[in-house]
Amino acid sequence: MKPCYFKSLLRLALAVVAISGICMVRADDLPDLGESARAELSPQIERRLGESIMNEIRLREPSYVDDPEINDYLNRLGARLVESSANPTGDFHFFAIRDNTVNAFAMFGGFIGMNTGTILTAQSESELAGVLAHEIAHVTQNHLARQIAKEKQNTLPSMIAMAVGILAARSNSSVAAATVTSAQAGVVQAQLAYTRDFEREADRMGYQSLEKAGFDVRGMGDFFERLQKAGRIYENNAPVYLRSHPLTVERISDMQNRAQDSPYRQVVSSLDFHLVRAKLRAQMGKPREAVTEFETQLREKKYASPAAANYGLVFALMRSKDAPAAQRAIEGLQALKVASPMIAGLAAEIRASLGDLPAAQAIYREALQRFPQSKALVYGYVEALFAGRQYDQALPFLESQLQLDFADFKLYGLQAKTYSALGKRLQQHRAQAESYLLQGQLGQAVEQLQFAQQASDGNFYEQSAVDARLRELRKLQIEEARLKRNGG
Ligand SMILES: [Zn+2]
Repeated sequence: MKPCYFKSLLRLALAVVAISGICMVRADDLPDLGESARAELSPQIERRLGESIMNEIRLREPSYVDDPEINDYLNRLGARLVESSANPTGDFHFFAIRDNTVNAFAMFGGFIGMNTGTILTAQSESELAGVLAHEIAHVTQNHLARQIAKEKQNTLPSMIAMAVGILAARSNSSVAAATVTSAQAGVVQAQLAYTRDFEREADRMGYQSLEKAGFDVRGMGDFFERLQKAGRIYENNAPVYLRSHPLTVERISDMQNRAQDSPYRQVVSSLDFHLVRAKLRAQMGKPREAVTEFETQLREKKYASPAAANYGLVFALMRSKDAPAAQRAIEGLQALKVASPMIAGLAAEIRASLGDLPAAQAIYREALQRFPQSKALVYGYVEALFAGRQYDQALPFLESQLQLDFADFKLYGLQAKTYSALGKRLQQHRAQAESYLLQGQLGQAVEQLQFAQQASDGNFYEQSAVDARLRELRKLQIEEARLKRNGG
């Protein structure tokens, strides 16, 4: 890693902290990095940049959707499209932002965000896949870096502008207000828009992956056409998406012409697509209103999927804290004989709130056999074990899960909680340190290892392991401090 890149990475991380923390940083307040920062970014640096922005969003962005079921779904759908893209082995990560407006955006390093409004506006899974495929193409074609190079922009402010743009994409955001009032920021904000050539390329490549992945290719044109119509109606209040992805009549007719040349293909949206939408709907408004909405849907048979309408009702009843009614309703849903980790997880939650922990745990265990990849089931099972104070059972389960995914900071967090409950202080802080480190919080990770050193309940090997890990992290800390100092 060349130092100049590392330097700008650090600066960016700091600047993003400042932006999301106090919302007052303006691009012209930032130091000029000179020629070096204009150099092209390597994929590794882009990934690190994306990771640091992602960490900031996860930590400080209240609209970040911290929901393993919704994120699992987006990542499965995204992975299917990535496999059919120009870079099938590329590293991508998909996440959701809770915002009713339609938007989707690609960041450095293959991080792709999607507003929940997009998921709710899409009328089929192919439409949603069309939006994702378009964003994936922006990444595989390296449009972000090429756009920045084209404008001969100082890389750093452009990257920060991107981060601001992402945060500002939320409606009613204080960041958005700060962006609008700052003329300087307004200029960089405008430069976030991709050129028409890039848009055309993303459409073309996105279309190809959509087709290859087996989706209905008309989905792309249909969705964009609806967006454009909405944009015409609302004028200045057009979907945020249209600002960063300028949509033209020509683009839409290109998409529709391509679709006409393809053989007709009836593609059914997956159950998960409907369940995720039902969950998002059931989370909106007051709990009782959500219950009424789904009751009406079911009574009038106005739904795309009966299972999802039932699921929405059960979810809304749980929000209304009516577990007995939720239990009765989920029996109706189970009678439909559809299998999904989301339905199993909800069934287990209901049992747990009715006080029947053994039944809840049994549902989780059975569901984990069928859906071992489901993170929501993993976390839910651990919580159900915690509720029964079965920490000695949680520990080996968490260890086996960490063997499968050693980069999951949540698993380390749960492990720390388990050790804490078991009174094992060294191990508690050791696990918490790994959790912080994976979230990019080096200072806190070091602090936890110091606590682990002070704990006197470890054996010689455990203490040596803590010492060794602390030395590694301190080295990293010193390196970062040195770069920060040299960067002025
Ligand atoms: Zn675009």
